[in-house]
Amino acid sequence: MKILVINSGSSSIKYKLYEYPKNRLIDKGLIENVGEKDSLVKNHAQGVKVLIENIVISGAISDLSEISAIGHRVVHGGEDFAAPKIVDQSVIDKIKLCANLAPLHNPANLAGIEGCRKILPKVSQVVVFDTAFHQTISKKAYMYALPYKYYQKYKIRKYGFHGTSHQFVSKQASNYLGKPLSKLKLIICHLGNGCSITAVNKGKSVDTSMGFTPLEGLMMGTRSGNIDIAAVFHVMEKENLSIQEMAEILNKKSGFLGVSKISNDFRVIIKAVKEEDKLAKLALDMFIYRIKKYIGAYLFILGGADAVCFTGGVGENNSGLVNKIKIDILKITGDKTKVLVIPTDEELMIGNLTYNLVKRGYKSNKEKK
Ligand code: ADP
Repeated sequence: MKILVINSGSSSIKYKLYEYPKNRLIDKGLIENVGEKDSLVKNHAQGVKVLIENIVISGAISDLSEISAIGHRVVHGGEDFAAPKIVDQSVIDKIKLCANLAPLHNPANLAGIEGCRKILPKVSQVVVFDTAFHQTISKKAYMYALPYKYYQKYKIRKYGFHGTSHQFVSKQASNYLGKPLSKLKLIICHLGNGCSITAVNKGKSVDTSMGFTPLEGLMMGTRSGNIDIAAVFHVMEKENLSIQEMAEILNKKSGFLGVSKISNDFRVIIKAVKEEDKLAKLALDMFIYRIKKYIGAYLFILGGADAVCFTGGVGENNSGLVNKIKIDILKITGDKTKVLVIPTDEELMIGNLTYNLVKRGYKSNKEKK
């Protein structure tokens, strides 16, 4: 059974094609500059069409009928989705409502789904949400101490992101440790361009560092992470900035890029630190300090941890960084806590979740034939 996984972003569409039940990767690719000026691919519907045609041209499949299901990444599922869902009109309508919470991402995700539905109307489509894994977080942990009416009116609360990655890495850690998730306390550090840390108890997210948007929490490539909001008001006033301009600064010009004045790319920062650049060193120290603060908080919340796992482009490729943090973890926990580096694979997780949802229908269809 072949499952196509689609990650339809604002200007790119990535895909991976897997063969199940062995979850073997058989093809992957990417279409960039979707909808941009001078691009041949004018919109997501056209992008998805080109992408699916390319899969046949590449020889990965001989006919579109070989695709049994499609799994789509959707960034925001709000409070409506705590698990993956087979797409029907009511699911589409709810994702449209959640677009209010993720105006840059959900419309692009939806365009990918609708493009696929047009080309392959009979194929089951499944949506997997970045926020779903965190729907187990308790109300005392997800509420902000704002007037309650803003939660009631606008659903202002922590949602958390990178859920598919945190879930995947939790499962991998459980396999590696040879213990069921129900017996494990884990802290997962997803460190890429975006960074988030999640406390996982018995396989369930109990707290996570990202919030209403991915801006909260750790320092990231270009995002500030936690900040006193009063400092934001102060800068806006002094520099006469609009909300849009300030949002751009916090999301795109802060973090490693903002502090170091050099780059958002961790490799460039490490090189600059080796060349004794002071601001790059400061940025790196701030990054590590903040990771340690979250790990400390989550060790306390969980009452210890069986493992702290590092993943994402930064977490997977920088043993120096991980070892530095490991020394401090072991100082507190002794050898009770393992420190693991585990590669993430969000597309594979989406493929697996899609397979789990559709396999029953697929088998009974085959039996009928
Ligand atoms: P995204 O959040 O966009 O998925 P990634 O998980 O790919 O990002 O992580 C991107 C970050 O990982 C960049 O800062 C990059 O410098 C860092 N990175 C990727 N590969 C390496 C490597 N081999 N060594 C050090 N850092 C790396």
